[in-house]
Amino acid sequence: MVSKVFFAPARVRKWRHEESLPGRLQGLLQALKLKEHFAQGDWVAVKTHFGSPGAHRVVRPFFLRVVVEALKAVGAKPFVTDTVRIPGLQYLEVANAQGINHLSVGAPVVLADGLWGRDNVLVRAGELLGEVAVASAIHDAQGMVVVSHVKGHINAGYAGAIKNLAMGAVSAEHRSCGWRCGRGGMHSIGEGKLYWDQERCQLCYQCEEVCPLECISFQEGGKLFYYNDERCWRCGRCKRVCPQGAIQHQEASEEDFLRALAEAAQAVLSTFEPGKVLYLNFLTEIQPECDCMPGADVPVLQDLGVLGSADPVAVEAASMELLRQARPLPDSAAEEHGAGPGDDVLLRLHEKPYWVQLQEAERLGLGSSRYELIRI
Ligand code: SF4
Ligand code: SF4
Repeated sequence: MVSKVFFAPARVRKWRHEESLPGRLQGLLQALKLKEHFAQGDWVAVKTHFGSPGAHRVVRPFFLRVVVEALKAVGAKPFVTDTVRIPGLQYLEVANAQGINHLSVGAPVVLADGLWGRDNVLVRAGELLGEVAVASAIHDAQGMVVVSHVKGHINAGYAGAIKNLAMGAVSAEHRSCGWRCGRGGMHSIGEGKLYWDQERCQLCYQCEEVCPLECISFQEGGKLFYYNDERCWRCGRCKRVCPQGAIQHQEASEEDFLRALAEAAQAVLSTFEPGKVLYLNFLTEIQPECDCMPGADVPVLQDLGVLGSADPVAVEAASMELLRQARPLPDSAAEEHGAGPGDDVLLRLHEKPYWVQLQEAERLGLGSSRYELIRI
């Protein structure tokens, strides 16, 4: 099967609205024929990522509004949503600080799994995960537009639609099975415990600051590292920010983690009727790391544009290919890692076999990596 992927390029050569990226996004949404996917009155989740304080390169509210207006034009009832990554009230403040609110996007902005991140439904997943806790507002929605900011990722190597579905539509924890049915179940193996290496630690306290649950504390002037194992979500943020590699975490293997992402994405999609989910990949402000980190680096690749499809595998395959063809930007992490023209920049940065998530998604029947690229 060959799937259609529409491409709205970012380069502007004529100073007309139709030639701008927002104008082309409107054209791309028309090409996707929203009316064939969403019925009058359908509640449609516009699933984006609100980001973190300091991570300012999320998909801008201006673009979210274009999506919302297109959905309203076909009679759907959109809402803009994400799952909580830090306590919900704070996360809504983050969204608002990014400019994502009802006034800016033209639709309600809601937490998909509630203020405490525990409003979710267990859904059967594959052999690695067993079950995952899908956020209720996504589980119960009639349709969804998955709006993903494409960038690098410390664990996944590449983050786009599959990761947005997997980590983004699954909660951090479930009331009964805790972190195991949440995102932590994708990151961790066994008990997923954390280990601290006092020799390496330089007491910068970044791990303590970044923990969403205030699980970490240092006692006796830094001689004792304490973390609340009962509460810990196994999100791995503490390990990721540690500049010394002083925190280790029982993690799944690289390949299992990537396969688990595809499994979780499949579980999320199983809650929708066929054809009720569309995908928009924003290849803009392509920074090296995830928007859940407490900062955003300069882009490693030039803005390329927006890709749209009804096929999650095709949109990811096209995104990865465009990224591989793009030239690394000077004065960026790409240059620091010695990437030159023709190099796979994300592979250079993270050294992860990021394409495994795509291969596994295709093996699970989520779509086709064969695509036809149609320029808008
Ligand atoms: S993995 Fe680290 S940052 Fe995440 S909840 Fe546990 S202690 Fe906190
Ligand atoms: S982030 Fe690493 S170096 Fe800094 S206090 Fe935590 S364990 Fe120590």
